[in-house]
Amino acid sequence: MPSKPRNRLGEVYGQLTVVRGSERRSSSGNAYWWCRCSCGQEREVPSDKLSHNLSRRKPTITACIDCSRELQIEAVCAKNDREERQRRLAAEQARAGLQGSVPERWLKLPFTDAQARERGEVLFFRGTRCLRGHLAPYRINGGCLACAGQTPSAD
Ligand SMILES: [Zn+2]
Ligand SMILES: [Zn+2]
Repeated sequence: MPSKPRNRLGEVYGQLTVVRGSERRSSSGNAYWWCRCSCGQEREVPSDKLSHNLSRRKPTITACIDCSRELQIEAVCAKNDREERQRRLAAEQARAGLQGSVPERWLKLPFTDAQARERGEVLFFRGTRCLRGHLAPYRINGGCLACAGQTPSAD
């Protein structure tokens, strides 16, 4: 017999407010609670997914299924933006040290493939060596130009 669950009525977890108990129990005996999302939709959530402790590794639920999906998409977009900013910054720093040792036009290319796509260009130069040690621009989807024999590596 599972122990009586702690009363969570009225507690708030992110966008969710616990509105009523549920008869449902998880296989490990955890109680479920019906929660109302700030968008108005309800979701049945097991109590072990309702937590204010965000530092723990176990995933928590903080919104209805639809809103969770949106939050997830936003988080992925934010992460991609952050990573792309870091890639551009790293390329800018790498290229700053290459002034005079690579063709001037390489230093005018976009920093990353994403930036090349934004500008409608096909080449970019991150200022880093390819796996075979070439220092050369890359073609979007095509890899290192020196590997492709289209330009000599700057060395
Ligand atoms: Zn919602
Ligand atoms: Zn190469």
